[in-house]
Amino acid sequence: MKKSTLTNPIFDSILPDETTRIQLLRSTIEQFQLAGIRDPDRDAEILLCRILNINHIKLYFDREKTVHRPEIRELNEIIRRRTQGEPLQYILGETEFYGLPFKCDTRALIPRPETEILVDTALKFIEENDYSGVIDIGTGSGAIAVSIAVNTDCRITAADKSESALKLALNNARLNSVDSFIDFVQADIFAPDFPDIAKKGYDMLVCNPPYVALDEIDSLDDEIKNYEPWEALTDYNDGLNFYRRLKEIIPEIVKIDGIVIVELAENRAAQAKSILSPILRDVKIIPDLAGKLRVLCGKRSSK
Ligand code: SAM
Ligand code: GLN
Repeated sequence: MKKSTLTNPIFDSILPDETTRIQLLRSTIEQFQLAGIRDPDRDAEILLCRILNINHIKLYFDREKTVHRPEIRELNEIIRRRTQGEPLQYILGETEFYGLPFKCDTRALIPRPETEILVDTALKFIEENDYSGVIDIGTGSGAIAVSIAVNTDCRITAADKSESALKLALNNARLNSVDSFIDFVQADIFAPDFPDIAKKGYDMLVCNPPYVALDEIDSLDDEIKNYEPWEALTDYNDGLNFYRRLKEIIPEIVKIDGIVIVELAENRAAQAKSILSPILRDVKIIPDLAGKLRVLCGKRSSK
């Protein structure tokens, strides 16, 4: 066994025939540190456990256990992808959102923890008001639609322009056994006939739109801008196009007094609020756990 290959597996062409779990963990962490990965220990642990098909406890408990070349090679390939900046969730092909498992890949945005605030808000309103018809616009991975379906008896329309994202959303609905409660609809929110395609009379509309302005894309982390679909991140304009369009379609598709819940970019919360205020009442802006203005909710007014 070559010692040097253990400390630097990614840059060596000769992989060791075998090593131990703990040595492999250390060398993976070292690679991630060198590459400037934000949480090298966590990522190394998760990926090594995935390759070895074991849990974290086993990793440390059986730390001197031998790992053989095929697994070392597999890990090496994963280290290469991660150190080049591919998000951990895309490498794993899955993530957790609202305590539920979701498949994820480059067809859709990786569900964000801050979007759980939107789901929390939606579930509270559904419970208090006995709502049953919900539309999720820009469903992506299906994170919001599936989480609502799992936790309520609602019938949900999950709309997205992207056919491939809708396929992923359907997979996720099946994975969580709620596919029979969700109607998947391919539709462009900006199409003039969107209200007809999406149907009408909803009790609730939820939407996490692409709200990054085109001139802000450069300032996003490389992991985001180099891997996640730009269609999911930006409106290719000032980040407010979806709020303007929502203002037009909400009176057509949401019942009077129905609830509207949308995710926000903190730096444009006030602008989004002033766009939507003419068609809503009781508007509230809810911060996320980091204290950033994240979710706007209001009731469709009768005007
Ligand atoms: N709902 C998911 C979530 O919260 O994780 C994904 C939200 S992602 C920010 C926005 C989604 O809007 C993407 O899935 C994208 O495909 C979709 N989208 C982009 N442009 C659209 C359009 N013109 N009409 C409908 N959906 C669109
Ligand atoms: N919160 C995402 C980001 O900045 C953007 C998602 C969105 O546009 N809705 O990484």
